[in-house]
Amino acid sequence: MKVKYDLHIHTALSPCALEEMTPNNIFNMSKLNDLQVIGVCDHNSCGNVKPLIALAQRDEMVVIPGIEVETREEIHVVCLFSDVLNVYKMQDYIYNKLPMLKNKPKILGDQILMDYNDNIIGEEERLLSFATDISYEEIINKAWQLGGITIPAHIDRPSYSVLSNLGLLPDNNKIGILEISQYADLKQYMKQYKKYTILQSSDSHELGFIGICNQWIDIPLKDGEILDSNKFIKYLRSKAPKSN
Ligand SMILES: [Zn+2]
Ligand SMILES: [Zn+2]
Repeated sequence: MKVKYDLHIHTALSPCALEEMTPNNIFNMSKLNDLQVIGVCDHNSCGNVKPLIALAQRDEMVVIPGIEVETREEIHVVCLFSDVLNVYKMQDYIYNKLPMLKNKPKILGDQILMDYNDNIIGEEERLLSFATDISYEEIINKAWQLGGITIPAHIDRPSYSVLSNLGLLPDNNKIGILEISQYADLKQYMKQYKKYTILQSSDSHELGFIGICNQWIDIPLKDGEILDSNKFIKYLRSKAPKSN
């Protein structure tokens, strides 16, 4: 089954995202763009994944709960999970290793928590967009252990990416997928990184970018099977060398 995806979307919880990134706006914009699977990935937090999952239940869209983690090396990695329980376990692990700095909303932007009616239910006071004290390898292992998957984010970008910060892509048997940004040439990366699956997502911090990459992924499903987050994550994990 070919599904249209965008696996890297921020909400208003990320200080750098616009306030228009509310659960309903993200959901409706995703529908408008015919997305069938979306990943919700705020910086170092999953505080707004629940309302999006609740909204998607009314429809056939699959919402993948995720977190874009910043490692000790200042590398961004997208961690995706099949369920809310495990994404919250990941958040606990991250919060323990995230410096206790206070956000400065006026300078850095608001970090807004919302419900599925877009009501503001709180504001995250600790600064989310900061490096955790967790290494690249440790994050990958933790996400795998929680039944999830790590995808090095926007590897084409000149900062906050594994290639920019380490100068190479370390071999890791739990990494089989790489993410490129909306500005990169997919064909070029597919040629250059043949042993990996290359996914292209928007890294949307504003509504207008959601679904802009127009990318599809083929998920093997049996006749009559309905796609859900479990099956989607299982498929992504099958791309890792470890699973072979
Ligand atoms: Zn990033
Ligand atoms: Zn991002």
